[in-house]
Amino acid sequence: MAAILCGARKALTPRSLRCLHSVYQMAELPETHQMLRQTCRDFAEKELAPIASQLDKEHQFPAEQVQKLGAMGLMAVEVPEQFGGAGLDYLAYAIGLEEISRGCASTGVITSVNNSLYLGPVLKFGTEEQKHKWITPFTTGQKVGCFALSEPGNGSDAGAASTVARLEGDHWVLNGTKAWITNAWDASAAVVFATTDKTLKHKGISAFVVPIPTPGLSLGKKEDKLGIRASSTANLIFEDCRVPKSNLLGELGMGFKIAMQTLDCGRIGIAAQALGIGQAALDCAVDYAEKRTAFGAPISKMQAIQFKIADMALALESARLLTWRAAMLKDNKSPFTKEAAMAKLSASEAATFISHQSIQILGGMGYVTDMPAERHYRDARITEIYEGTSEIQRLVISSQILKEYRG
Ligand SMILES: Cc1cc2nc3c(=O)[nH]c(=O)nc-3n(C[C@H](O)[C@H](O)[C@H](O)COP(=O)(O)OP(=O)(O)OC[C@H]3O[C@@H](n4cnc5c(N)ncnc54)[C@H](O)[C@@H]3O)c2cc1C
Repeated sequence: MAAILCGARKALTPRSLRCLHSVYQMAELPETHQMLRQTCRDFAEKELAPIASQLDKEHQFPAEQVQKLGAMGLMAVEVPEQFGGAGLDYLAYAIGLEEISRGCASTGVITSVNNSLYLGPVLKFGTEEQKHKWITPFTTGQKVGCFALSEPGNGSDAGAASTVARLEGDHWVLNGTKAWITNAWDASAAVVFATTDKTLKHKGISAFVVPIPTPGLSLGKKEDKLGIRASSTANLIFEDCRVPKSNLLGELGMGFKIAMQTLDCGRIGIAAQALGIGQAALDCAVDYAEKRTAFGAPISKMQAIQFKIADMALALESARLLTWRAAMLKDNKSPFTKEAAMAKLSASEAATFISHQSIQILGGMGYVTDMPAERHYRDARITEIYEGTSEIQRLVISSQILKEYRG
């Protein structure tokens, strides 16, 4: 694997990025990315798919598998080698994450949050010292990070944060509750958003890196979720929680911008997670349709089933192209806010649709835990909610399009 990552890294020159664009038009990946895809697929088939159901039932964090992913470079795909990461591009990240999520969607979101939502903002907005302290130990899979933006009173309306931070001498003192935080129970640090000047509204929000555990920070109960049950989700409760002044990430008042830019990247990760879930649901449906007979023939010979398979594959492939495009725009340093929202919306709706159809193709067997179809259906649903609901993605897309028309 190390050789593959090294080969992929060498291949990602500006020239090869241009090649990627022409390759994208042919809807194929360069050889290095294909190798990465195969390696991640093999890992997911061998290490994740066989235990995904058990992890889901037992709400068990896949610590061993996360460490193996760390050793493969997949817990810090975009992080440069000098900080311990794989130093690859976002297309590689999207491809790897799809394969991981195809094996286990919970492991997919754990990986995605560490890469995009925790390491991403520290890498982009952190000082050199912060990068060494808060990135390097989180690249190996030994430690994972989390991202705390949502609150009990506001999710979509993230600018209305009521968690506050006030400066006391050399420390920031945080008070408030952050809700729904992925990885909360397993994390060793969080990027936390808190208001430092209420009068400035969203321009008065700042970002902080907070170690976990730390005095004044407690965890809420583990949420009992519909899907992605092997990842922990809980509140972070701050009661006079003191962090050193130097833990401010970026400039004072820059928090909302950091959050929004981080979510643009995160949405590519969630799109990739949704693709993996959708692909797994399609795999399961096709396999069953070839084996199951009704009225004397495999059900895959029936037009009603064939049409379903065609619609599922079409939704998946269109979403995959949008996801790769968004990742490549990011890699080329072009604007990608609209494309990331399109990728997430398209992939999450595809995953919901495909997993729904997969259950229908399996009939009764789709409805029981003996088969993975019901888990895919449960796992897919969250991709339409976190990192911006489908309604919020539509708002992002339409506002960008209207801006373009108004020129
Ligand atoms: C399992 C899970 C993991 C999560 N992980 C994290 C995490 O790691 N970090 C984090 O910060 N947050 C996390 N979240 C929070 C998640 O991002 C929010 O739940 C999500 O943004 C929606 O916010 P909300 O739940 O407050 O819903 P609300 O914002 O209250 O929305 C309720 C409904 O109203 C709609 N709506 C709201 N505003 C508008 C509008 N302007 N126009 C049209 N419709 C609108 C929404 O689309 C939705 O249908 C997680 C949530 C879950 C369930």
